[in-house]
Amino acid sequence: MPNTPITIAQARACVLLATPRLGEERVPIGDALDRVLARDVRATGDVPPFACSAMDGYALKAGPAARTLNVIGESRAGAPSPRLVGDGEAIRISTGGAIPAGAEAVIRQEDVVPGNGQIATTAAVAPGENVREAGEDMRAGTTSVPAGTTLRAAELGAVVAAGAGEVTVAIKPRVSVLCTGDELRGPGEALGPGEIHNSNGPMLAALATHAGASAATARRLPDDRARTEAALEEALDGSDVVIIAGGVSVGPHDLVKPALANLGVEQLFWRVALRPGGPTWFGVRGGRLVFGLPGNPVSAFVTFSLFTRPAIAALQGASPDRMLDREATLAVAVPQNPRLEQAVRVRLERRNGTTLAFPTGPQGSHMVTSLLGADALALIPPGAGELHAGMTVALESLPS
Ligand code: AMP
Ligand code: MG
Repeated sequence: MPNTPITIAQARACVLLATPRLGEERVPIGDALDRVLARDVRATGDVPPFACSAMDGYALKAGPAARTLNVIGESRAGAPSPRLVGDGEAIRISTGGAIPAGAEAVIRQEDVVPGNGQIATTAAVAPGENVREAGEDMRAGTTSVPAGTTLRAAELGAVVAAGAGEVTVAIKPRVSVLCTGDELRGPGEALGPGEIHNSNGPMLAALATHAGASAATARRLPDDRARTEAALEEALDGSDVVIIAGGVSVGPHDLVKPALANLGVEQLFWRVALRPGGPTWFGVRGGRLVFGLPGNPVSAFVTFSLFTRPAIAALQGASPDRMLDREATLAVAVPQNPRLEQAVRVRLERRNGTTLAFPTGPQGSHMVTSLLGADALALIPPGAGELHAGMTVALESLPS
């Protein structure tokens, strides 16, 4: 398998080709937030289920202004009137109340003068006025939310309106995060000489959880071959995706690749012509995906965004997210790299109908602050010169 760098597009295609689809399960609506629908949700009946009033007013026959009508009953939301509305009659109705038999329209209460059990109309009403027809929102039997949709607030509202009490969703991928490095200390721990905090652990666990993984946790590992292998074996046993950060480069303490080879994880690629994130490794064992991400926090974040996040989505059969801007105009010049595609963290700003991309500051792969306030990655193709201000660049979305 190639050790020569491949492009971002090739690497992503390779990951998606190797990614299986997980199974599905039924969950109650209360547990469905952020899950990916595995089956279409069809409306079990018309929505609204019956013709109802769009206004507080009176249900009546259509007709001109200046009529005097007897008020013969009331239809409230949840309490329809059994009476039939004839000529010369009206039924008081509230928003959402069922249109009584015989009525053709609703007149707004602002357009009548009530008194003595009667109303005098001050406006004409056309047939159907202020009436919401049954099935106007959803027709019985039609698909209201398709499979592949991630259920956010609006989608939850729609599936409940469609009549569902449970939905069939993709099983959440189980993701393990392992962070290698003798230098790593936990959050808030005091640092000894040569030590740094394990920022990747919480960051990658958060990324995986937001991407739809079942609560991912991170473990820290020393640069020790036996312990790396034991931790990887355990992670492979209990996970659909294993992320191991750090130790995938070419240094004498980069033990991850030989450990993975020894465990029978098949390498599908190592190295992407990308900055940051060049030494990214990807392989599989029996349908389990393994991402060896470079240890520098920005590299880990960027390569997770470009390769691991699409895999977590694909495991669940999620439709690609809708991104507002797929390209932007560079606000400043950006030097190219002769061989590598660069993923520059940018802040986006709309000016005069154009989306401008501003790099977030120094772009070193160790500068975790370059992720702060970034709206997207701008992809700068390899080349000899620079991309000038005003040139168009492709954007990749960044996860939250
Ligand atoms: P490596 O990929 O192991 O060669 O690490 C590359 C750089 O990333 C080194 O400077 C490491 O100290 C740093 N690094 C590795 N793992 C982490 C981590 N979990 N959190 C923060 N920095 C890390
Ligand atoms: Mg290391």
